[in-house]
Amino acid sequence: MSETQASTSRYQPQELELHWQQHWASAPTGSSASEAEAGTPFYALSMFPYPSGNLHMGHVRNYVITDVIARAARMRGHTVLQPMGWDSFGLPAENAAIERGVEPGPWTDQNIASMREQLKRLGLSIDWDREVTTCHSDYYRWTQWLFLQCLDAGLAYQKDATVNWDPIDQTVLANEQVDSEGRSWRSRALVEKRKLRQWFLKITDYAQQLLDDLDTLEGWPERVRTMQANWIGRSTGAELNFAVVAADGTTTDTTITVFTTRPDTIFGASYVVLAPEHPLVASLTTAEHQLAVEAFVDLVSRQSEQERTADDKPKRGVAIGAQVRNPASGELIPIWIADYVLAEYGTGAVMGVPAHDQRDFVFARQYALPVRPVIVPQGSDEHAFEGQAFTGAGVLIHSGRFDGLESSAAKAAIVAAAEAEGWGQGRVQFRLRDWLISRQRYWGCPIPVIHCDSCGVVPVPAEQLPVELPRNASFSGKGGSPLAQLESWWRVACPCCGQPACRETDTMDTFMCSSWYFLRYADPHNSSLPFGRDAVDHWLPVDQYVGGIEHAILHLLYSRFLTKVLRDRGLLGFDEPFARLLTQGMVQGITYKNPQTGKYIPPADVRDPSDPKDPLTGDALDTFYEKMSKSKYNGVDPAVVIERYGADTARMFILFKAPPEKDLEWDDADVEGQFRFMQRIWRQVETARNRGLSLDVWAADRSTVAAATRAVQALDTALNNSESDLRRAVHTAIAAIGDDLSDPYQFNTAVAELMKLSNAINAGLEECRQPIALEALSALLVLLAPFAPHLASELWQQLGGSGDVHQQPWPVCDAQALVRDTVPLVIQIKGKVRGNLEVPADADKATLEQLALASDIAAKWLEGKPPSRVIVVPGKLVNLVP
Ligand SMILES: [Zn+2]
Repeated sequence: MSETQASTSRYQPQELELHWQQHWASAPTGSSASEAEAGTPFYALSMFPYPSGNLHMGHVRNYVITDVIARAARMRGHTVLQPMGWDSFGLPAENAAIERGVEPGPWTDQNIASMREQLKRLGLSIDWDREVTTCHSDYYRWTQWLFLQCLDAGLAYQKDATVNWDPIDQTVLANEQVDSEGRSWRSRALVEKRKLRQWFLKITDYAQQLLDDLDTLEGWPERVRTMQANWIGRSTGAELNFAVVAADGTTTDTTITVFTTRPDTIFGASYVVLAPEHPLVASLTTAEHQLAVEAFVDLVSRQSEQERTADDKPKRGVAIGAQVRNPASGELIPIWIADYVLAEYGTGAVMGVPAHDQRDFVFARQYALPVRPVIVPQGSDEHAFEGQAFTGAGVLIHSGRFDGLESSAAKAAIVAAAEAEGWGQGRVQFRLRDWLISRQRYWGCPIPVIHCDSCGVVPVPAEQLPVELPRNASFSGKGGSPLAQLESWWRVACPCCGQPACRETDTMDTFMCSSWYFLRYADPHNSSLPFGRDAVDHWLPVDQYVGGIEHAILHLLYSRFLTKVLRDRGLLGFDEPFARLLTQGMVQGITYKNPQTGKYIPPADVRDPSDPKDPLTGDALDTFYEKMSKSKYNGVDPAVVIERYGADTARMFILFKAPPEKDLEWDDADVEGQFRFMQRIWRQVETARNRGLSLDVWAADRSTVAAATRAVQALDTALNNSESDLRRAVHTAIAAIGDDLSDPYQFNTAVAELMKLSNAINAGLEECRQPIALEALSALLVLLAPFAPHLASELWQQLGGSGDVHQQPWPVCDAQALVRDTVPLVIQIKGKVRGNLEVPADADKATLEQLALASDIAAKWLEGKPPSRVIVVPGKLVNLVP
């Protein structure tokens, strides 16, 4: 399609893009990364998709951003790894099996095939030889192997636990998968509590490292680092022991240990609260409180964690009749149980200090418990407790030997006294809890262990991996794992003793599969290990990771954890998996909603968008932008946009419309605008070819733009004004776009710079000599290449460029071209702008005054009289006051 014919032709993106996509597939240039290549490695990674079968605009935005970064890195001399794969275990496939009777495996493979074709239509420079699919046994074999590494390291264990149960998806969820309203991240069901035997990974062993190393992640958004730090939730304080006192007043051997971040308030403790599930509750409750306590425990067991701890919910509790001795003051105080204390956090017991904790204050007021101030603000003797606890730091009162100490000194002194006298110790506590990875579903990676009555939990020997999912499962959707119903699958001989034993029937959380996929890309065909250490150490950490903010905690925290575990097992040699992270904003579509009925109206049904009405009721509609979704009819199908305008236009629009981290509002008019820009570049090259311009004069040079720049510098006569203006535009664009393609990425301003350069070429190319014209055209195409790769390739070939435009090095800015010989000087008469004057850029004040006075503007407005005053602002203006 590139014969040099001097005529007019039309920009037909569909035909042109398919041609280049086929060309790239048959002769990959740069997209297949080899460890042996000379350039420094650069790993550009998009978060891999779940294969739903349909590519949506959010995917397109994510992958286009990564592709521009990858292409720019290649032109800068890096050897780039840009892979793609499929996060393909999970509930949608199992639900399809239940609803439609299809098998999850083939259903998933079909979706993958269809999405892979849609992805290829975007012109992404992906190395498809490294594709990974988490539901294929050549991948999940290694997920199982990594689980066994965790088991061997003592980091995988089973325990009975009160867990989050999703009643819709009929499975348990990790804490990270329950949102702040207590709903499932996937099904949106209100999560219930159940007691089940489950597998956990000991992420808490790494809590301090996961927190500390956030400081090293300078290429991550601050927001994501803060979210992780809050989730890990480190607090320093003390564990203090309150001895239980018998009914006759004697101190017993039983103690209740509380965790507090405010040991300085211990003299203000007027009760102790246990979680209703606390193991001491049953034995300490006195006979006359028995019935009330049992009723209360039953009530609380039916509440979710969120209901129990939400700030706006009332706190409820009952006394259990027993007492403890406050170890600091010696005073006897009552034991209560209350819904707001959780067994899973800390010690499952807290001391109630109503004067200095708002939640305790509310609770104490409700149950008429004493409120005893023991801290006053610095510089005052009293604090009025008018409906509020005083939660700040201050000075201790009513605290015996600690009176007069300031809070932080008092904390240290009280912890020291507790340690010396044996009633407590300093303690660090984390909010993070162990990662629950058991799922009672079929379409996941089987947990590779066998339960034997004699030997206990026996790992499946490595040479017997993978433990494959059976094909003949039945899907009822009635709950319970389909694997548990397949006795022929789970009944096996124990690998240790040979006696009859059972396979584990739980599968792993799919987040386990996705917490190491970025390692497999480095060595995807390794059949003896999940990856070789040399390969992962060569490519990782990932230089630029791109994905949605919704993974700020879940996926990113689990991946950081597993990386540290594998480092400690000697399997890799770095601390963090992702050096830099870009969280791209959402793609939003125009949304119409009838405020009367609450119904969403498809944009196609809205006749007049400037005055939108419900076609059925005639009600005026609310119009706004919201994340694209099927239920709101506000989605735009990438395939339709590509069919109409081509992938290059879609890419240009997405990059131009908003900075990468910000939400993007889809706008058809702006898509049209980018399509016209592509057409204009097409015509500019065509006009140049019709003039006989060709880049083939520099076919022997590695960098065409550099060769053109040298030819310009060798010209033996000075540049005319059009020539120096065009050169300035070219090298301004080279510098600015180079800057925009470095973190922080500014693709939107980079596209704006391309438009400016194209304008400058329109304005001045005809008055320019050949080397200057060719320098401008070659720079335009080379700079365009990462953004609109198909059009840049096609026009590069049409214009006689040598080889592939994507193998051109990134052009270098000629600083000399940026220097202005003359600058425009504004001439004002009595403060009013009356015209402009081109003056030498280096003219001094006196010269500027002379030039202004000698100008036609002065002659016209001063009518020959000398001005009474002259104000000169060098480089800007001269104001002549008559
Ligand atoms: Zn055994």
